[in-house]
Amino acid sequence: MKYYDKLIFDLSKEGRQGYSLPSRKWNAVLADLPAGLVRGEEPALPQVSELDAVRHYTNLSQMNFGVDSGFYPLGSCTMKYNPKINEEIAAHPGFAGVHPLQPDATVQGALWVYEQLAKSLSEITGMAEFTLNPFAGAHGELTGLMIIRQYHMARGDEKRTRIIVPDSAHGTNPASAAVCGLEIVQVKSKENGLVDVEDLKPLLDDTIAGIMMTNPNTLGLFEKDIKEIAALVHECGGLLYYDGANMNPLVGMVRPGDMGFDVLHLNLHKTFSTPHGGGGPGAGPVGVAAHLAPYLPVPKVVRGEDGLLHMVGADGEACGRVSGFMGNFGVLLRAFTYILMLGNENVKMVGPLAVLGANYIKESLKDCFELPIDSVCKHEFVFDGLKDKSTEVTTLDVAKRLLDYGFHAPTIYFPLLFHQAIMIEPTETESKETLDGFIEIMKHIAAEAIEDPESLKTAPHTTPVRRLDETTAARQPILKYKDII
Ligand SMILES: *Cc1c(COP(=O)(O)O)cnc(C)c1O
Repeated sequence: MKYYDKLIFDLSKEGRQGYSLPSRKWNAVLADLPAGLVRGEEPALPQVSELDAVRHYTNLSQMNFGVDSGFYPLGSCTMKYNPKINEEIAAHPGFAGVHPLQPDATVQGALWVYEQLAKSLSEITGMAEFTLNPFAGAHGELTGLMIIRQYHMARGDEKRTRIIVPDSAHGTNPASAAVCGLEIVQVKSKENGLVDVEDLKPLLDDTIAGIMMTNPNTLGLFEKDIKEIAALVHECGGLLYYDGANMNPLVGMVRPGDMGFDVLHLNLHKTFSTPHGGGGPGAGPVGVAAHLAPYLPVPKVVRGEDGLLHMVGADGEACGRVSGFMGNFGVLLRAFTYILMLGNENVKMVGPLAVLGANYIKESLKDCFELPIDSVCKHEFVFDGLKDKSTEVTTLDVAKRLLDYGFHAPTIYFPLLFHQAIMIEPTETESKETLDGFIEIMKHIAAEAIEDPESLKTAPHTTPVRRLDETTAARQPILKYKDII
């Protein structure tokens, strides 16, 4: 253990101060506070110098792995680079200082960003209108499903309470449907990883609210029967929901609106480069075709007769309110900056480059890793563990060993269709040199698995913490210093 890996409480020394406040000013503030709000005792905080505190947080930050510290091919998560200009714009005092309760006339710039971003996303996806209010992908799913429910109810079609979800779907799809009070009907995938149209047909009747599709699906494969699926579902009176969290490979190439989708959500914190990991903040805007626009949540941004933009809509309207105000505005700003910086021309390169990178890695590694579905992929693909499994080295071992070589692990054991799934998504923001470096290390690990399997089974060896009990860490987190001693 290094000296500064110590808990900051252990560095504490009675009476040491890392700050000095202007006491006259603060005494005056204290005098104005109601007695009940004034703390009687000093809080039990570590007493350290400013330098100790700086070192503590700097070292903590280096114990983590982020896209700014290395390649992060986490499938389905699109860990692309968040350009620093996004941060600069989001921190601009003119944006960072506004309050959602200010009069509309004083926040025209912020409302303009909302309106323009909604327009850009409509253009990119082929939808008629967008709400930017939902806070995450799953929140967008719930909002989209509420819109579908409202649409059927408004037509008096109340028995449509069942929703079809493919077995390859992201776990949030059935979860959001359940939260929305819908019954989930599963449709199977074929051997080739695509939705089985023959399995779908008998499920379609007048109780079906719609189908949730991910395209490309979670295996990174394009659902090429989508036109037929759209026609079948529409024919039975259902709507098509598009899980656009993984829209990245389609950007500039294909539009879900043109495939026949009625509602979709996007993950700005994936496709549109805003930072993610660690639980937020994110943004899951929802786009709809024109016939669903009346059911979008409030508030909406609308240009009034006075020529100004306004936040409008009352709680009881449409599907109501899904967030306090207008979503995570800082995230919206980053995504808007990203789109403007790319511009019309370069935005068209996002999808093709993401797809090229994924196929390059897949083809380079398929001699060492088992490739259950050997076809052209989109932005990501799935291996089913090492090709040679004779030394019983698992996908988990490979993932842990990658950390020793400075790469974040890919997504593992998802999707559930394969026992040893390793799901790799490089994104378009990585150079060929980085991809080559990753390929070289993956080949090296495959060789180690034969020659020295123990080094993999005990990996990682170089990280601040080794193999964690992730379940206990999530179920019984110890968040207080006192619980440790
Ligand atoms: C990430 C993801 C989601 C969920 O997004 P969150 O912002 O984490 O709620 C949904 N569907 C797919 C396919 C995803 O990759």
